Amino acid sequence: MRLVMLGLPGAGKGTQGELLGRRLAIPRISTGDMFRAVLRSETALGRQVKEYVERGELVPDHLTVALVEERLNQADAGRGFVLDGFPRTVPQARALDEKLRQIGRPLDAAVFIHVPEEEAVRRVSARRVCEQCGATYGQAQVEQSGGRCPACGGPLVQRPDDSEETARRRLQVYLSQTRPVVDYYKERGILVEVDGQQPIPDVLEDILRALGQQGNAGVSGG
Ligand SMILES: [Zn+2]
Repeated sequence: MRLVMLGLPGAGKGTQGELLGRRLAIPRISTGDMFRAVLRSETALGRQVKEYVERGELVPDHLTVALVEERLNQADAGRGFVLDGFPRTVPQARALDEKLRQIGRPLDAAVFIHVPEEEAVRRVSARRVCEQCGATYGQAQVEQSGGRCPACGGPLVQRPDDSEETARRRLQVYLSQTRPVVDYYKERGILVEVDGQQPIPDVLEDILRALGQQGNAGVSGG
């Protein structure tokens, strides 16, 4: 199954992408992780990407699509993938579609996790990250943790990116650029929309049901 995740920052794309990947036995491919990995690598593509990043410029869509393609050629993506963090604009969505068509592996669905704007801002500004191990925690976990990372005991801090002001700015970027991507996939007839204001397992079950994968609960061992 070949999927992309869509939703406001804070909607739970990363969490659901990870759970979906485990349930469907396909990798979650985060373009953020991919960029970090390629910047450490010494491939030709990595060097090209690095030039843009070092100049502080946006990496052009064709390079990002080439990166995604390279990642999809790895063995673990043979049965499919969950793409998270890309596409963010309609031109990127078109470029991705064209590339996937060329390699005969078109998308099966775009999964849109819907949460109201205010809820998204609230979630992002409540988020904390462990200074020591980098794990991210949502509000409920932060409240239970007493300010310490449940995994390693490190201090939990707010990422500068997660301040309410930045969260609102990212929301505006999303609304102007990424919201049209939702409409793009809707027009193509492959949009799956779920209510993101439910407990995490319920959101997952809604997505699986919409994808026609609901019979798998528990079978794959999580
Ligand atoms: Zn930690």
